[in-house]
Amino acid sequence: MHTAISCRESAAQLRQLDIRTKIMRCRNHNERQANAICVNCGIALCNDCSDQLENGKIVCSENCKKSVTNSDMAIDLIRMKILKQNKVASVAYFILGGLFILFTPLAYLDGVWQVSIFLFAMGIGMIVAGFLTRKVGKSSFEAENDIKKYI
Ligand SMILES: [Zn+2]
Ligand SMILES: [Zn+2]
Repeated sequence: MHTAISCRESAAQLRQLDIRTKIMRCRNHNERQANAICVNCGIALCNDCSDQLENGKIVCSENCKKSVTNSDMAIDLIRMKILKQNKVASVAYFILGGLFILFTPLAYLDGVWQVSIFLFAMGIGMIVAGFLTRKVGKSSFEAENDIKKYI
């Protein structure tokens, strides 16, 4: 009884000290200082308890490893899909733009120069949109990859 109380008191004192010195302790080893946090469940871990994935993320258990890997794979899949859609969209823009420009001289020869100007402007607009779509898709992909390194 007496030991239990003093043990609780010392644990409380230790926690107080930890808060003051900003030290985190391993969830499994109370005496060890934690130097990593599981990215999935957020618990503090010492060197022995942490497991590092290939992409540098720290996990605490096989379960957390699985869920982190699964969610990463899901994110990658979604990203690849978006990238692919962007590519398809930009190709569609290029083809449409090309067609509009192709019809420009035909409209001009038909004597409707107003229409030819309209077609030409539309064609340029489509091609610019194609370039922008491609650029946005690529840059967001690269930015997310950069962020991924730090989380
Ligand atoms: Zn975990
Ligand atoms: Zn530990």
